[in-house]
Amino acid sequence: MKFKSVRGTRDVFSPEIELWQYLENTAVALLKAYGFSEIRTPIFEESALFNRSIGEDTDIVEKEMYSFQDKKGRNLTLRPEGTAGVIRAAIEQNLLVQSNIAKLYYLGPMFRYERPQAGRYRQFYQIGAECVGSDNYRRDLEIILWCVDYFAAIGLTGLKVCLNSVGCADCRPAYREVLKKYLQDQTGKLCGDCQRRAVKNPLRVLDCKVDSCREIIFGIPAMQDWLCDACKTNLSEIEADLKKEKVNFIIDKYLVRGLDYYTRTVFEIKSENLGAQDTIAAGGRYDKLVQELGGPPMPAVGFALGLERVSEVRQKQKAVATPGNRIDIFFALLGEQAQNRAAGVIRELRQQRIKVEAVFENKSLKSQMRLADQSGAKFTAILGEEELKKDSVTLRNMQTKEQKDIKLDELSQFLKTAKSEEYNG
Ligand code: ATP
Ligand code: MG
Repeated sequence: MKFKSVRGTRDVFSPEIELWQYLENTAVALLKAYGFSEIRTPIFEESALFNRSIGEDTDIVEKEMYSFQDKKGRNLTLRPEGTAGVIRAAIEQNLLVQSNIAKLYYLGPMFRYERPQAGRYRQFYQIGAECVGSDNYRRDLEIILWCVDYFAAIGLTGLKVCLNSVGCADCRPAYREVLKKYLQDQTGKLCGDCQRRAVKNPLRVLDCKVDSCREIIFGIPAMQDWLCDACKTNLSEIEADLKKEKVNFIIDKYLVRGLDYYTRTVFEIKSENLGAQDTIAAGGRYDKLVQELGGPPMPAVGFALGLERVSEVRQKQKAVATPGNRIDIFFALLGEQAQNRAAGVIRELRQQRIKVEAVFENKSLKSQMRLADQSGAKFTAILGEEELKKDSVTLRNMQTKEQKDIKLDELSQFLKTAKSEEYNG
């Protein structure tokens, strides 16, 4: 019997996995440069945590959660996003001290029951970060600039930051009423979900993906005109600094994001190189969530990016070379004695992090050389009877095809020098 991966999931392997490792390593280094430290939380949490934080009327909670009962009847859910778990953990582990700022990042799989399509999976990976304890607009900026700097670092171009403010507890209620009234008159034209949302949670209508609803949205009064002075200032300060930093951004006055916990700043980063699923990173401010989850009243701001989508854009941009996992040296070994002599040397090289592969399967020289070629190795070391007598190998540079004898004892030094020259070049 043969098995297949579950619908909406995928296997990631070489050469794409080397790209993923590069994307992850670059992100981690830059997150640390921005002062974030990692937190690893469980893949599943109590379902109530997500209902409470993401919001009952959101797509995620309404239809996308992988929820189940364990053997004791506990209601659990595979995490659909990272923020809720990180904030739950930060509160539980006392990582949040008022007057201090906590900066945490995470990386790992998320789960949503969505219709699988290009750029949309049921298990997908996110890298994200949260900055808890400040309502200063410079923290919003820090989050947006991290994304901009990261995408520049991995060589992505053609990106656009879409920015908006969804207001705060002071100004949103009034807007909510205006919106509710407006939607009442349109209710016949809205999709079934939105007819319900129009009454219970009208802002959610702005995030509807149904075409007929999207048409109505473009006539809707925008939050922008209802922002209180504090929210207006917050947004204009961010705008001014993004201009100063020469970031390519636009104000999208209907941007609301698919989670209820946002306040004030929301943003998305879009790529010109993707189809319908063109948002590669998104985030915003959530000033009430920490307290709502039982923590101290601490404002926060964060983001998450989708690794599959970032990887896809990066692969489409042929101009940037994809990091590979090339073997440094491939050993072609002829006979038992050669295998014995090489075994110790190979282990030593590997202990020095030199990437080595070897053939121990008694193949002809010709087929071993074919494997060496396929491996993409920079060098091949041939060890046969003649070489054994001299305790050396015939070392072949696979690119230039040059060959020379080199003592087995000198291999490690030679490869290290070759590697550092390549690095500097
Ligand atoms: P979308 O509008 O594409 O559904 P979202 O608003 O649901 O996105 P967020 O919850 O903000 O997305 O997640 C942040 C990022 O995670 C997205 O910008 C995207 O890159 C990625 N992402 C979200 N859902 C998926 C998915 N099902 N498959 C792959 N990546 C995803
Ligand atoms: Mg979604």
